[in-house]
Amino acid sequence: MRLAVIGVGLIGGSFALGLKQAGKVSHVVGVGRSRTNLELARDRRIIDSIASDPSAAARDADLVLVAAPVAQFARIFQEIGRSLAPGSVVTDAGSTKRDVVAAARSALGARIAQFVPGHPVAGAELSGAAAATAGLFLDRRVVLTPLPENRPESIQRVEDAWKACGARITRLDPEEHDAVLAAVSHLPHLLAYALVHDIAQRGNAEQLFSYAAGGFRDFTRIASSHPEMWRDICIANRDRLLQELGRYRAQLGAMEKLLQAADAAGLEKLFAGAREARDRWLKSSS
Ligand code: NAD
Repeated sequence: MRLAVIGVGLIGGSFALGLKQAGKVSHVVGVGRSRTNLELARDRRIIDSIASDPSAAARDADLVLVAAPVAQFARIFQEIGRSLAPGSVVTDAGSTKRDVVAAARSALGARIAQFVPGHPVAGAELSGAAAATAGLFLDRRVVLTPLPENRPESIQRVEDAWKACGARITRLDPEEHDAVLAAVSHLPHLLAYALVHDIAQRGNAEQLFSYAAGGFRDFTRIASSHPEMWRDICIANRDRLLQELGRYRAQLGAMEKLLQAADAAGLEKLFAGAREARDRWLKSSS
């Protein structure tokens, strides 16, 4: 299988490495914005060659993975559409799905059947080819949001590739995907950025950071994520994210009332319920 990776960063690079380790690809061509990153990817044998643009990369590919920040997708799909062979399949790793599907429909037109949308629910706050690892998707979930136009063989090709990387496949429709991920991924990122931003802006920020320990580190780890990537995700999914922010604000309001009333029992009940829910989640996800 010849693979083209558009955006050879943490996700695109790890996908290529996983497939290489599984012996599923004969050649990987990469495209990107940064020559230095692409050369590093070639030095690390993540990719075998560098193409000048997405159109050139897609020309001979059996599978194309688009793994750039989601605001780049519309232009990338347009470029891929110029050279895509009838037997090729395009997939993506974008963290949002409604906008990605709309961009693909508009750019690929009648060839939309060749696009199988996906999202690996795995990753890290690291970025670039330097951070890519073959095992990133091992035992992790990949959500596919297939389109009614997709042929079963095209979906199978994408599923097989992710399975070869060690991932487990689940399916959602794009609406459901964006609603679910807004609650458990996009909102936490927004909150982590907000807390660090608030602390950093204070006159005594240096003092505050010097006392920040494990709890602060755990809560804010994801504020080290790539700002462009998260800008794009938040904007693309802003209607769902705003709904989640509203719910969270209501939750904070309820906690504020408990504190104002010095309602120790109420606070403890809430904390205990949250701890139980988290313990159950940890057990079921291990
Ligand atoms: P990354 O920053 O590590 O890699 C993105 C790469 O895309 C970079 O090398 C960048 O140079 C390249 N790029 C940017 N614009 C481009 C363009 N116009 N054409 C070609 N290449 C371009 O980011 P990542 O973490 O690998 O994320 C890639 C995609 O995967 C994003 O859409 C993100 O939403 C999604 N995703 C990320 C995670 C995560 O935790 N990091 C998890 C799941 C999905």
